[in-house]
Amino acid sequence: MEKILVIGQESKSHKAILRLLVSEGFEAITADNVEAGIQTAQSERPDLLVSTLDIDGSDSRVLLGALKQRSELAIIPFILVTNQGEKFYLRECIELGADDCLVEPITDPEIISAIKTRLQKQAQITEQYVAVLRNTAERLNRLAHYDSLTDLPNHHLLHQRLVQAIERFSQNHQPVALLSLSLDRLRQVNNTLGYQAGDALLQATARRLRASLPEGSTVARLTGNQFAVLLTDFTSRQAVLAVAQDLINRLSQPFSLPSQEVFLTTSIGIALYPEDSTDISTLLRQADAALEWAKQQKSNSCQFYRIDIPVVPADQIVLETWLRYALERHEFEVYYQPQMGLVDHRILGAEALIRWTHPEHGPISPAQFIPLAEETGLIVPIGEWMLQQTCRQVKLWQQQGLPPLQVSVNLSSVQFNQPHLGQTIATLLDQAGLSSSALELEITETALMQDAAAAIAILSDLKTQGFKIAIDDFGTGYSSLSYLKQFPIDTLKIDTCFVQGVTTDPKNRAILTAVIQMAHDLQLTVIAEGVELEAELALLESYRCDIAQGYYIGRPMPAKQFEAFLANYLAKPGQNIDKSAYAHRFGVTS
Ligand code: C2E
Ligand code: CA
Ligand code: CA
Repeated sequence: MEKILVIGQESKSHKAILRLLVSEGFEAITADNVEAGIQTAQSERPDLLVSTLDIDGSDSRVLLGALKQRSELAIIPFILVTNQGEKFYLRECIELGADDCLVEPITDPEIISAIKTRLQKQAQITEQYVAVLRNTAERLNRLAHYDSLTDLPNHHLLHQRLVQAIERFSQNHQPVALLSLSLDRLRQVNNTLGYQAGDALLQATARRLRASLPEGSTVARLTGNQFAVLLTDFTSRQAVLAVAQDLINRLSQPFSLPSQEVFLTTSIGIALYPEDSTDISTLLRQADAALEWAKQQKSNSCQFYRIDIPVVPADQIVLETWLRYALERHEFEVYYQPQMGLVDHRILGAEALIRWTHPEHGPISPAQFIPLAEETGLIVPIGEWMLQQTCRQVKLWQQQGLPPLQVSVNLSSVQFNQPHLGQTIATLLDQAGLSSSALELEITETALMQDAAAAIAILSDLKTQGFKIAIDDFGTGYSSLSYLKQFPIDTLKIDTCFVQGVTTDPKNRAILTAVIQMAHDLQLTVIAEGVELEAELALLESYRCDIAQGYYIGRPMPAKQFEAFLANYLAKPGQNIDKSAYAHRFGVTS
């Protein structure tokens, strides 16, 4: 029932209007002067105001002026019933906010029609406002809870859903699985194909994820390349694993961007409620820790959280603080991963890879701390330490009588762009008593492509000092081949993603053969990274790839273990190598 406030002293007209309103089914309330009218309007919030003040000899303009000053009352439709018919007066009332002016004598139908017209109009306006408000509220809700690029829920909404799922557990005893998922190599796409391509890739990923997941699950985008999935309808770990595996499979299909086809690999870490933790933030960190673990195992793999997986603080600040002390507290170590020549299966060299073990939190993956070290500039002293340690080790191996192994050290783009880089490295070599040819420097294709012209100058400088240079992660930087010719380099390391899957994906095979052929035309040595299977090794051999590196041959290991590996390697049955030649070169006997 619409509520109408009639303001004016009791008079014939006033009473007649009240009676009429009631008979027409309105709720009629009254106030007999301006002050009471304002108060009643404020407390009762009527749908419409009628003033009969003029009829008592008062002035409705005072009321209109008072209403105008109160924005919440100024919007209420106002009908003036007056005995003053002067145009000038009526005009003034309308300017002060009256919506309609009825000059006595008036009939009942006139009053009712005026009231209904105003109420109708007001209802329409309200309807529109409500629609706009609803719309705005929805947009605000989307902004607050959804990622604008992919339209997936963001971390706030994921958190809410996680809370709800956990609350339901007390009734339905349905455990909750939290999957932390990261797209590897997104950064390279951004760096080389541009952010638009990266964005398109993320949107396509979001579509695939949404399409792949069972109903009732939530998929959220957390940060740049990290997504999370919440599963609440499964019966066993095996079922969760199957979902994760399915996601990995679907994301490993090529993505067609306007400029080219892109392959991604995905890693997934899984934590279970209540099995792993009943605390949400711990659960999130456990899933992340499992993800890091998965990344270290091999690409396209997933990993359940286990108690022995170290959980790193979510807080980058804490990690940064740890990182600042890591050098002086001797928490770093150099691991060496063997590289095998494919002509005669001899171990020709190794890649030096950094390892960090935090005293309380255990091993922390380079994939996690190297980007932070680069951001903070800590990579410069850490990188120098790596070079220094590696030089010392290589010297030791030489002194032990091993023939010079070709050992490569990774140079981050931050180091690469440091002034006097060549001089710094030369000094470290000098101190260790090594010649520059003992060392190969690995620089990623992406780092070189950031400023190709500058890179050519720096590389030329390093070359004249006698260092060997390898392009790392080749194939992920999408560098144009014309640049490759201009880069003074010795070695091309083909990225893992082209090697893994080579046995099943004909496209990878075509890329591999083309890259190997091209590299050989340019007189470059080709190393294939990430070789995990015998079949991959066999294919690489048949493509005349020069060197292979990967878990199939050997994992990264400490120096002592690497020495044992070399000794043991010879004794391994089934190796297609000339043992005597090997023994001669490496000074070990089988
Ligand atoms: P990267 O230079 O491409 O190094 C190869 C990575 O692949 C290493 O990971 C290695 O453990 C891993 N790997 C080797 N064989 C296989 C395999 O068969 N399968 C799979 N799935 N992976 C394999 P790691 O040691 O975790 O290093 C990750 C990245 O961190 C490196 O990638 C490199 O970019 C960076 N990094 C490591 N050590 C250093 C360093 O001393 N300095 C700098 N600047 N970066 C480093
Ligand atoms: Ca490398
Ligand atoms: Ca690499």
